[in-house]
Amino acid sequence: RSGRSAALRARMEEWLLGARFRYLNQQLYTGSSQDAARLFRADPAAFHLYHRGFERQVRRWPERPVQRIVRYLRRRPASLVVADFGCGDCTLAASVKNQVHCFDLVPLSPRVTVCDMAKVPLAAESVDVAVFCLALMGTNLQEILGEANRVLRLGGTLMVAEVASRFEDIRAFLKAMTQLGFRTVSKDLSSSYFYLLEFAKTGPARPGPAPGLRLRPCLYKRR
Ligand code: SAH
Repeated sequence: RSGRSAALRARMEEWLLGARFRYLNQQLYTGSSQDAARLFRADPAAFHLYHRGFERQVRRWPERPVQRIVRYLRRRPASLVVADFGCGDCTLAASVKNQVHCFDLVPLSPRVTVCDMAKVPLAAESVDVAVFCLALMGTNLQEILGEANRVLRLGGTLMVAEVASRFEDIRAFLKAMTQLGFRTVSKDLSSSYFYLLEFAKTGPARPGPAPGLRLRPCLYKRR
C-alpha cells in the first residue's frame, strides 16, 4: 500500500514539474528578456525547475544542438574567443579549449556571468564567435541580436541553434538578419527538431524595424 502511494506521489510530482515547466517556459517566450531577468531574480527556484524541465525535453531529441556547436568550434582555431548567450549549464565551455564567456540569468555553474543577454559586460568587437543555442527567448530579439552584433568583431561568427517549429518564415528571418548586420554563411534545416544557422557579421545593425525577425514561442506539449 505504501509502495502504491509512493508511486502515485512520484507521478503527481512529475506531472506538477511538467506543468510548472510549461508555464515558466511560456512566460520566457512571451515576455521580454528583462521580464525573464526579473522573474528569475525574484524566484531562483523557478530557474532550477525550468532547467530540470528543459533537460527532460532535450534528452528526448536524437542529438543535442549544443553538441553541433561543440563540433563546429573544434574544427576552428582554439584561439577564437566565444560568447555563449544563455549558456545554461555551460556544456559548451566545458567541451572546447576556447575562452568562452558564459552568460545566463542564474548561475548553474561557477563559470556563468549572471546578466540579461540583452546587455552583456563585454567590450565592443571583443569576441570572434557568438552563440545562441536554444536561447533566443524573449520578445526583444532585435535588441538581443543587436547586443551580439556589438560584441562581435567584423567578420565574426554568429551561431544560432533554434527549435525548427519556431520559424514562421525562415526566408523572412534570414532577410531580417541582413538588416541586423549578419550575412548567412550556412544553414542546416535537415533536422526536424532544430535548425542550425551560421552567420558572419558584415557591419553594425541598421536601425529600424525588422518585421521578419519574429519567432514563434516554443511551447512544449504535455506528455
Ligand atoms: N544553451 C544551453 C541552454 C539553453 S536553455 C544549451 O543549449 O544547453 C536557454 C537558456 O537561456 C536558459 O539557461 C535560460 O536561463 C537562458 N536565458 C533566457 N533568457 C535569458 C536572458 N534574458 N539572459 C540570459 N540568459 C537567458
